[in-house]
Amino acid sequence: MQTNSGLKKTPDNRPMQACSRGPKEMVNIKSEIKDLIEGEIRFDEPMSGHTSLKIGGPVDIMVFPEDPASLKNVLVAAQTGGLPLFFFGAGTNLLVDDRGIEGIAVSLKKFNSIDMTRGTDEFNAVVHVGSGVPMAQLMSTARINGLSGLEPLAGIPGYVGGAVFMNAGSFGREMKDVILSVAIMDREGQITMLKKDDIGFSYRYSQLPDNSVILSATIKLVKDEPEKVEKRIKDYMARKKKTQPLGEFSAGCVFKNPEGDSAGLLIDQAGCKGMRVGEIEVSTKHANYFINRGSGTFTDFMKLMETVRAKVLLNQGVDLESEIIIIGKDRQG
Ligand SMILES: Cc1cc2nc3c(=O)[nH]c(=O)nc-3n(C[C@H](O)[C@H](O)[C@H](O)COP(=O)(O)OP(=O)(O)OC[C@H]3O[C@@H](n4cnc5c(N)ncnc54)[C@H](O)[C@@H]3O)c2cc1C
Repeated sequence: MQTNSGLKKTPDNRPMQACSRGPKEMVNIKSEIKDLIEGEIRFDEPMSGHTSLKIGGPVDIMVFPEDPASLKNVLVAAQTGGLPLFFFGAGTNLLVDDRGIEGIAVSLKKFNSIDMTRGTDEFNAVVHVGSGVPMAQLMSTARINGLSGLEPLAGIPGYVGGAVFMNAGSFGREMKDVILSVAIMDREGQITMLKKDDIGFSYRYSQLPDNSVILSATIKLVKDEPEKVEKRIKDYMARKKKTQPLGEFSAGCVFKNPEGDSAGLLIDQAGCKGMRVGEIEVSTKHANYFINRGSGTFTDFMKLMETVRAKVLLNQGVDLESEIIIIGKDRQG
């Protein structure tokens, strides 16, 4: 079963976690955490400021560890105190409950180095990239250095860690197609290097060991002329801009494409384009994108998801599965 930070997912993609904890552990860890890590710490931080949907209530503690030792300290402290952990990147695939998240949300955005010196030959380049590197930065590094392989993924927001976890993809290309290996850390702070074939990647899915966080990925790209790489990136971006509402507050595609079908098309055919609950709207440009038009809420979003799902089931007999990650207190066990 796929996990994100030990939050097991039910088949409908809802993370959950069972563990014992209490207010005492939370008070203890809030007072101790400053001594445990190098890096920024925020208390009762609204997740809405960290998600592309601009939705989400507060998390008890949010941390931005700057190095593996600090990260390990956080993981061990959470484990010892029985506190839930949640890892997040740029929050571009997240729907967070307005009531917030319990425990500790960990961002690896400081794990943001790109190392191009890991063995290249005449044709290929091996790039070691940290979890916190924005995909856009990886893309521009590849473009400047004339490295091909990532171009169809141009325009996918978020960080490398999120893209690996989600096996993000577009135009038939997925993260798994360029990955050689992934470094993870478990709850005891143990670091393991997993080869691509040990990860069990499939469509928008990675099967990482339970309770692990992605530290970095090693990817293989093919050498090409920078101008050609740039042209392909521009072409893919132009195609995306035509069909997807990229500048709006969304979390990308809400539902996974059923095998051999398009969730967007099914939603469109079910007559849901433009449908609205509160300030959440099914995009008129791409029906699998739900847009927050302003002060849309988690409840509105969930209601719209259920309505659209029911309509598609009724009209086309297809039960759509959530692609976005839904997280909140009553989904954490
Ligand atoms: C406008 C728009 C367009 C999009 N287009 C596409 C597209 O074409 N194709 C596509 O596949 N997706 C697309 N997405 C969705 C999203 O951008 C991707 O899934 C992206 O890879 C998520 O990265 P993130 O850093 O934002 O992850 P988050 O949303 O922060 O997290 C996503 C999941 O990954 C887990 N996670 C994040 N970092 C780590 C880590 N270091 N270790 C362990 N788990 C981690 C989180 O716990 C969560 O379960 C789009 C989104 C938007 C808003």
